[in-house]
Amino acid sequence: MATTPDSAMMDKLVSLAKRRGFVFQSSEIYGGLNGCWDYGPLGVELLNNVKSQWWKAMTFREDVEGIDAAILMHPKVWEASGHVANFTDPMVDCRECKARFRADQIEESLCGNPGYKGRKASKCQAEGKFTEARQFNLMFKTFVGPVEDEGAVVYLRPETAQGIFVNFLNVQSASRQKIPFGIAQIGKAFRNEINTKNFLFRTREFEQMEMQFFVKPGTDVEWFEYWKEQRIRWFADLGITKDRLQWHRHEPEKLAHYAKDAFDIEYQFPFGWGEIEGIHNRTDFDLSRHEEFSGKSMKYFDEGSKERYTPYIIETSAGASRSFMAFLVDAYREEEAPTADGKMEMRVVMRFHRKLSPMKAAVFPLVNRDGMPEIAKKIELAIRPHFRVFYDDSGAVGRRYRRQDEIGTPYCFTVDSQTLQDQTITVRERDSMKQERLSADKVVQFLRDQFEAPEK
Ligand code: ATP
Repeated sequence: MATTPDSAMMDKLVSLAKRRGFVFQSSEIYGGLNGCWDYGPLGVELLNNVKSQWWKAMTFREDVEGIDAAILMHPKVWEASGHVANFTDPMVDCRECKARFRADQIEESLCGNPGYKGRKASKCQAEGKFTEARQFNLMFKTFVGPVEDEGAVVYLRPETAQGIFVNFLNVQSASRQKIPFGIAQIGKAFRNEINTKNFLFRTREFEQMEMQFFVKPGTDVEWFEYWKEQRIRWFADLGITKDRLQWHRHEPEKLAHYAKDAFDIEYQFPFGWGEIEGIHNRTDFDLSRHEEFSGKSMKYFDEGSKERYTPYIIETSAGASRSFMAFLVDAYREEEAPTADGKMEMRVVMRFHRKLSPMKAAVFPLVNRDGMPEIAKKIELAIRPHFRVFYDDSGAVGRRYRRQDEIGTPYCFTVDSQTLQDQTITVRERDSMKQERLSADKVVQFLRDQFEAPEK
């Protein structure tokens, strides 16, 4: 990953994420658990919005079905998939400071000794301080039942894809789908990463949004192109800056053992370009292996042509947590904004796409008297069953706007003295900061028009 000069922005973002309740360190009061994060009140809303936009895009179509498979699976699944043998990273230890590194990431790592601040790990390696590389399996192991012996070993799934492959024929016959069709799933995955880093980018517990599309061999190249196009468009349609998205093609010699072709969608994070989603042509590897290891046929019978064959699979595999982080980074802006008395000040604004914004609206009484709080409360109650809304009556109205800007609330409604005369309120839009008047009884319809109308 190349570094960019604005990595200080990442510190600001992590601090905002904690202060405003997007993301907390896991088990913080005990000093935290490396590689694990908790989503706070706003974080869970944003994450749910990311997942629900993905679910809509992927399954609100006639050729994709959804499933939700168990995290624990039969251990043979992971033998068939190749994870027991191949899901390893090369690991080295520093004999001096005991730091542990992924052997293929030494170039971009720093020495673990705090006394040598900023020293490159490659320097320590050149001085012969590192052990030989050993292969380390990234799957978390646990046991089913009370006896902790080899026969009871199961794994926390390192990807959601296998739950889809083993259910291919169940889903196909239950939903009466014909090839080509896909199966989508969102769920937790676990990887015992050697080094976790960059906030939510590389964690040990994370969520994936995966879709496996089953196609007739020979049509795979065409479908691969189709899904590449769909998936990059999804990020762009949800407002990600197009210039910060790029394709990275895996070189043929670096392709995973199952893949015929693979492209990553990369996002330019403040710490450099990083993969947020992979699109893979997995061929018939997965179904053939499950057929071999289970002894059950995984072939598809084409009623029309009377052919029986093993479908090829085009996979779209996105991290929900990495996408969440890309949306968070992309939304962050520091910009000048006018104060109530006409001066300029800096504001931090999260310019989330409105469909992703964790809070959709805020309601303020301008002052806490003259019946304004009562009217504002009524408006809040009218909105609450339909959209996430926040009521705020403390501090100057300008400060209340700033607090909403910082969490990306698209609309603020203020009850003021004019409301008492003509029942209109001020609507203030987050990005343009433009204010206009709206009849108080039209607030819910106004929000419906903004959030539920089809995209133009
Ligand atoms: P990397 O090379 O970064 O380890 P990968 O190529 O192993 O990733 P895949 O196995 O293709 O990743 O997983 C698909 C998606 O799952 C990735 O694009 C990413 O968004 C997400 N993902 C994978 N590993 C992690 C992790 N440790 N933490 C958070 N998200 C992850």
